[in-house]
Amino acid sequence: MKELLFATRNKNKAREIQEIFGEGFKVLSLDDAGIDTEIIEDGKTFEENSMKKAEEIMKVSGKVVLADDSGLEIDYLNKAPGVYSARYLGEDTSYDIKNAKILEKLEGIEDKDRTARFVCVVSAAFPDGRKYSVRGTIEGIIAHEIKGENGFGYDPIFYVPEYSMTTAEMSPQIKNEISHRGKAIRAMKEKLSEAGEL
Ligand code: IMP
Repeated sequence: MKELLFATRNKNKAREIQEIFGEGFKVLSLDDAGIDTEIIEDGKTFEENSMKKAEEIMKVSGKVVLADDSGLEIDYLNKAPGVYSARYLGEDTSYDIKNAKILEKLEGIEDKDRTARFVCVVSAAFPDGRKYSVRGTIEGIIAHEIKGENGFGYDPIFYVPEYSMTTAEMSPQIKNEISHRGKAIRAMKEKLSEAGEL
């Protein structure tokens, strides 16, 4: 079975990525690989952050490494929280509180001005110096209430009009089919296969 090292400690993400790669691949997280290197995400773009993670872990492990950086852009908030999505209102603040605060900020705002998107950039760094980045997005609007139990993070307030539900109400299969991460990972799978890596 082909092992792929993915530079994340987020178990929810690692699970989604494993589901998207599917059988035949074993996605190893940093914890699975016993790597305890801490990476400071100080980039201003999703591309900078994901490539930094992939390159630093490639140097430590000597293997091909994939990494992602993702977040939620809310147009009414000038694309915040963006690359700061995990740290928005404090890293340790619960998503119940973060989501409630966002709903409060958008109170009274019409749907046409509640547009938002999840963005995911996946990068790959090779020991021979090759580097690739791909981007996936999913468009939606910020819901008027918190809804749904699946997923994680901002899923309970991210409403997808075409499906009449939030991404937290979707089954993992549907979310992976249409999500920013699903699209970016599938695009990276394609790139790796063209590069003769898969
Ligand atoms: P990262 O780990 O630096 O990529 O931060 C990603 C953050 O963006 C997460 O901690 C969530 O706050 C948010 N996020 C990214 N993807 C999703 C998703 O699929 N659902 C909900 N929140 C997400």
